[in-house]
Amino acid sequence: MPIASINPATGETIKKFESLSESQIDEKLQRAADIFHIYRRTSFAEREQWMTRAAEILETEKNDFARLMTTEMGKPIKGAVGEAEKCVWVCRYYAEHARQHLSDKLVETNARKSYVRFQPLGPVLAVMPWNFPFWQVFRFAAPALMAGNVGLLKHASNVPQCALAIEDIFRRAGFPEGAFQTLLIGSDAVPRILEDHRVVAATLTGSEPAGRSVAGIAGKQIKKTVLELGGSDAFIVMPSAELEEAVTTAVKARTINNGQSCIAAKRFIVAAEIYDEFERRFVKGMETLRVGDPHDDAADIGPLATEQILKDVDEQVKTSVAGGALVLTGGKRLDQAGNFYQPTVLAGIPHDSPAYCEEVFGPVALLFRVNDIDEAIDLANATTFGLGSAAWTNDEREQERFIDELEAGCVFINGMVASDPRLPFGGIKHSGYGRELSEFGIREFVNVKTVWIK
Ligand code: NAP
Repeated sequence: MPIASINPATGETIKKFESLSESQIDEKLQRAADIFHIYRRTSFAEREQWMTRAAEILETEKNDFARLMTTEMGKPIKGAVGEAEKCVWVCRYYAEHARQHLSDKLVETNARKSYVRFQPLGPVLAVMPWNFPFWQVFRFAAPALMAGNVGLLKHASNVPQCALAIEDIFRRAGFPEGAFQTLLIGSDAVPRILEDHRVVAATLTGSEPAGRSVAGIAGKQIKKTVLELGGSDAFIVMPSAELEEAVTTAVKARTINNGQSCIAAKRFIVAAEIYDEFERRFVKGMETLRVGDPHDDAADIGPLATEQILKDVDEQVKTSVAGGALVLTGGKRLDQAGNFYQPTVLAGIPHDSPAYCEEVFGPVALLFRVNDIDEAIDLANATTFGLGSAAWTNDEREQERFIDELEAGCVFINGMVASDPRLPFGGIKHSGYGRELSEFGIREFVNVKTVWIK
């Protein structure tokens, strides 16, 4: 994939970038290794000051960063401003809490004194996706830098200007030169970097094939990885739910970020008793969304990020329909320039169709009717993914069963799945392993050192 900014709303190539040469990569890895020995000795007070300054830059310039995100990957501008604000939040969260999350933990043993100390590991490679081009990076970088690690970012090839802007934010915030570096490289350069002794660990947010590759190579080198991969989240609605609120949230949960979110609700599993009413209102909600220029405040849905994603979504829908799925609304790309796809609802989805088995990364909702809670849970779990899940019910016994039995990294009751710096985030099954955010996230890339003193 060429490294280039291509406006997905028009198809216009805005700027192309050369990948780094072998010697430039080598120089950056050496800089990371060298600065780590200095950076790891900086105090929490210094890092807190730099991270707070990064938050201030993000806050002051959030509209510029938002325009950059929207231009490169097509998210509606309102969402892009919200994304920059969320980055402010995660920077402030770790500026305020990292010291406490990583303070020595005393443990009573037979020793005179024993405790656990958390120490940084070194340069960590972050392979990141384009869908939340700022948020995904900051949710890795804020805890990693606060823990005393240094960061190397290999961002998705279609968001190079976002990648460079993020490096610039950390530089302007005062972090030492080299503590956070962007590597403009294609994915073919990732194996060689993972194998380099100066890189000690890696995190990848992206697709399952990319996750398998990175984890495989890192595994051979005995290097720690965290994987945040795809999802096909269930959104279950039971008869006791507040239907209007569930429908409004369902439309938002499926179409946020033009339908390109790992934790978007993708499979809507609805109790037979209320199914028809849910379907009627949900389809109406999807039809009222405005698809258009993502720079326009009025747009609810912009273009898909790349032409390839548009083709993939279109193919998944067409094949599922050919196999027997019913189109309740949408089902086509828009007949105009840009990667626009109609908000779509499918029902009667055959079990062997792509819509049933695969993650659909666009504004395509899949509806399923179930007879009872057992069927709802079985269907929700009938996927290789296990990222998020949402269940709508006011019955406490049902709530308890969903919490206990849904196979996912999180369960939200009567609400939309969303990440929050205070709570851990991550998946199980093929959605990956490890956690980001909260105290769990900051402890992924540290040496949990046991200290025992006689
Ligand atoms: P992708 O193709 O896997 O790309 C993600 C990143 O991995 C990009 O930087 C890409 O570089 C790189 N990459 C691709 N193949 C690679 C390989 N074989 N080795 C090393 N690096 C490789 O993912 P995508 O399709 O753009 O992103 C959407 C996917 O990400 C969806 O499945 C979505 O659910 C998932 N996602 C998960 C989370 C989460 O938190 N769990 C969050 C957001 C997205 P290039 O751009 O140069 O190819």
